[in-house]
Amino acid sequence: MTARVLDGKALAAELRAEIAAEVAQLQAATGRAPGLGVVLVGDDAASRSYVTAKEKACAAAGIRSREILLPASASREAVLEAVRELNADDDTDGILVQLPLPDAAIEREVIEAVDPAKDVDGFHPVNVGRMVLGLPAFVPCTPAGILEMLRRAEVPLAGALVVVVGRSAIVGRPLSILLSQKGVDATVTVCHSRTPVLARYTLQADVIVAAAGSPNMITADMVKPGVVVVDVGVNRVPDETSARGYRLAGDVDYEPVARKAAAITPVPGGVGPMTITMLLRNTLIAARQRRAPQA
Ligand code: NDP
Repeated sequence: MTARVLDGKALAAELRAEIAAEVAQLQAATGRAPGLGVVLVGDDAASRSYVTAKEKACAAAGIRSREILLPASASREAVLEAVRELNADDDTDGILVQLPLPDAAIEREVIEAVDPAKDVDGFHPVNVGRMVLGLPAFVPCTPAGILEMLRRAEVPLAGALVVVVGRSAIVGRPLSILLSQKGVDATVTVCHSRTPVLARYTLQADVIVAAAGSPNMITADMVKPGVVVVDVGVNRVPDETSARGYRLAGDVDYEPVARKAAAITPVPGGVGPMTITMLLRNTLIAARQRRAPQA
């Protein structure tokens, strides 16, 4: 068997065209394009490149973006003030605080300072709580992108056994909740670094989502034939043949696993483009909700 490649780049392009059309409609109806406010603290190269990619995707979809750039030395109060400024700005519909912050100790407080109605990353406890309860909420972009991808690829999830490897607050845990909700109806097992003998679980899985941040950890002997594999991992592995000195690898040992799987996402070009697309979608939703006539 050779797996069908779930092409996140192509699907994201399709979705972004749909979002751009809806953005144009909203702008025509309200006279204003949706706006995303970004807070970037420090000069970490990876964070800078993520923010640039997000702003570029916004521009292509007709979404305005406004960036507040602070030095790595910015105080807790300065970061909170940037968030408050965007909360108060009527032209800002969605707020993104690029993580990680140089000072990890203030991350939780900063996330909680974001107006839940503008929390397009879906990290605020109000949105997390609403999501857990199955109420309308901003859902974190990576889990939302994975679900959208599986839906559009018509991967059967109802009754399927899904093993999620990783339990972080931004990927594994919210995804496991969404997959087990009524209407999606998967049976979900969450594995993590304290799970003994991971293969005991992955070998049973109809769908595996690998979100551990450990290169090539899911090997062919850990999966059953016909499995669907979603590789969330983005890892830099040293590669002297590359000008950058590294290449990107997922959490899945791609070629051997692809030979056994029914479908698989590549890295890069799988989950990553879907994550940014869901940020655009959440910003569009936030703009619509903020401009809806109040009852
Ligand atoms: P975290 O480091 O926050 O979480 C990793 C999780 O994986 C933890 O729950 C950890 O367990 C678990 N884990 C680590 N090693 C193992 C192992 N050997 N066996 C089983 N479980 C393990 O990472 P994130 O969730 O933020 O990200 C995961 C990966 O996804 C990273 O490579 C990241 O770069 C990528 N990513 C990609 C995105 C995209 O859009 N493509 C978006 C977000 C992330 P424990 O809880 O016990 O520590």
